Amino acid sequence: MSEFCSVSEIFGENVFNDTVMQERLPKKVYQQLKKTIEEGKDLDLATADVVAHEMKEWAIEKGATHYSHWFQPLTGVTAEKHDSFISAPGENGKVLMSFSGKELIKGEPDASSFPSGGLRATFEARGYTAWDCTSPAFVRKDAAGATLCIPTAFCSYTGEALDAKTPILRSMQAINEQSLRLLRLFGNTTSRKVAPSVGPEQEYFLVDREKYLKRKDLIFAGRTLFGAMPPKGQEMDDHYFGGIRERVAAFMREVNMELWKLGVTAKTQHNEAAPAQHELAPIYATCNIAVDHNQLVMETLKKVAGRHGMTCLLHEKPFAGVNGSGKHNNWSLTTDDGINMLDPGVTPHENIQFLLVLTCILKAVDKHADLLRESAADAGNDHRLGAAEAPPAIISVFLGEQLEDVLRQLISTGAATSSLEGGRLETGVRSIPDFEKDATDRNRTSPFAFTGNKFEFRMVGANDSIAASNVVLNTIVAEAFSDACDVLERAEDFAQAVHDLIKKQATEHHRIVFNGNGYSAEWVKEAERRGLPNCPTMVDAIPSLATEKSVALFEKFHVFNRAELESRVEIHYESYAKTLNIEARTMIDMAGKQIIPAVIRYTTVLADSINAVKAACDADISAQTELLGETSALLAEARRALKRLTEAADKAAAMQPGREQAVYYRDEVRSAMDALRAPVDRLEMLVDKEMWPMPSYGDLIFEV
Ligand code: ADP
Ligand code: MG
Repeated sequence: MSEFCSVSEIFGENVFNDTVMQERLPKKVYQQLKKTIEEGKDLDLATADVVAHEMKEWAIEKGATHYSHWFQPLTGVTAEKHDSFISAPGENGKVLMSFSGKELIKGEPDASSFPSGGLRATFEARGYTAWDCTSPAFVRKDAAGATLCIPTAFCSYTGEALDAKTPILRSMQAINEQSLRLLRLFGNTTSRKVAPSVGPEQEYFLVDREKYLKRKDLIFAGRTLFGAMPPKGQEMDDHYFGGIRERVAAFMREVNMELWKLGVTAKTQHNEAAPAQHELAPIYATCNIAVDHNQLVMETLKKVAGRHGMTCLLHEKPFAGVNGSGKHNNWSLTTDDGINMLDPGVTPHENIQFLLVLTCILKAVDKHADLLRESAADAGNDHRLGAAEAPPAIISVFLGEQLEDVLRQLISTGAATSSLEGGRLETGVRSIPDFEKDATDRNRTSPFAFTGNKFEFRMVGANDSIAASNVVLNTIVAEAFSDACDVLERAEDFAQAVHDLIKKQATEHHRIVFNGNGYSAEWVKEAERRGLPNCPTMVDAIPSLATEKSVALFEKFHVFNRAELESRVEIHYESYAKTLNIEARTMIDMAGKQIIPAVIRYTTVLADSINAVKAACDADISAQTELLGETSALLAEARRALKRLTEAADKAAAMQPGREQAVYYRDEVRSAMDALRAPVDRLEMLVDKEMWPMPSYGDLIFEV
């Protein structure tokens, strides 16, 4: 990489974006493809052939030898299968580089090893990947050379979604249709499309690679399973927005370069609250592209960290005692002509549309709080949510003082009705105070906060795809819009009807609004009194996916059918069980093979020292004796806890996959893990550091 390079020159240089398409594709083909991208028109094979050919030529100029359908199976990470462009050698023994339209739009990876939650028997292993032409193809360069990556959806032979992208695209269709209905009611005849805009802020930790390699828990589980707190944690708040160390700065610079080349608008970077914790945020993009880009961000962070002798930890809670990592999912609705439907606007008329949108969102979040919570559920996130550093596991909405006040007036004043006369839209105005963008302070404790012209969903885990949360957001808001339009389209007096509906929704769903401290114990009680669901763990959250309410919602908008939802329930239980099994096995391994032997060596040294001193003189040996006693007692406790954990893990692993097994892992295995960690962390404070078999927290987070 050259010392200095121009961002505008490298930005998107490896992306088959609109400019490249316009330059390289015959005009007719370009227009055809644009129609597909913008209006969802089918792409005929002849056009696809031309696009594929040009895409291949372009990729080869970039050095690509292979292409790959890049997809997001339900493992939470991306998958890819690489094919080279070469075709069978001709008579002259030479190969041609080819890539057909068929290969571009459809792939057929063997799907049997990806999670399907019973959607597909192994003998029906067929899965299809289909090009999502609304997310541009790109050339990725790494040790494997250069590969043309084609973002694709992944479905079973019978069309069921096996991935994260398919439901995203379906939910975008739903929110598009319902938003347009709503806009038309307010006299908008020009917008042709509405899409969610999404900007995910990504938190992560960086640790030194050499040290990382000495910690089996980091290697296998992605988080530390043992570890005493260092003398200093994050209490001084000196890391948050602090100066960035050289080594980390060099890493960030390279991450940005790589992302810019891939067309990812990496924008802000800073140190986060915990030592060794950082954040990267891109500029928001259309929902499905933001989902893809967030995967690229996570991949790039990991890859580039390796080049700088570091490892990037995306786990939600890599270290106990300091903050964990999440992802703030900023969400709004944007029309193709640039209107943000979540912008309160400056005129009263816009205010009314905004208030309808806002109360629809309140209704959606209140009605489907369980689904929103579930969308952020993941075994790692259980350590973060509700831990007084991240939003609680209870969903509520933060609106800020000004909007809260508007809502309160709306709910309480009956005066509104009497002022409804005269002009259509102006009428409602007199009853609703004029307001501008929310100017009140932030609330960091809220899981779902209004921040001026967007909502910020703060629950998503750092390691998780943002797909599930956006699928839920898009669909539940589509439902609320649809219900509202059903009423308003029939109304004789629109102004009156819209006013009544805003008031009704505000009144009925006001319980979801909470502007106070979401970390406090009082809120947990208050939320219970309000009847808001509280699902502290992933296992508690999973069932909400397949309730009748959920099936009715997702089937109505063709986002998931019942079978797809039930399959996801199974996959989630299994993934929880697998995660806990790996963690338990890793603890058993570390305790049995590294920690207990090290402590035994230390007790031997102590005993030898006691004997040696005794033989030499009659000095005071109470320190050694006490230390030996204390260490031995903790050692015995650790050994008993290890046995208990081994039994619990064996029993859990022998159970049938499903809810019961997940519950057992949550209740029995997790507590056995805690019981083993406690004496070990105390031992770490007693045993000679030279003899402790792995780097400490202090080594890991203060010496990057
Ligand atoms: P904040 O300070 O509120 O967190 P930032 O400006 O840092 O806001 O933005 C955080 C993320 O939100 C960025 O990814 C940004 O691009 C994104 N964002 C800004 N406006 C919108 C919007 N209207 N819709 C969706 N995301 C947005
Ligand atoms: Mg933010």
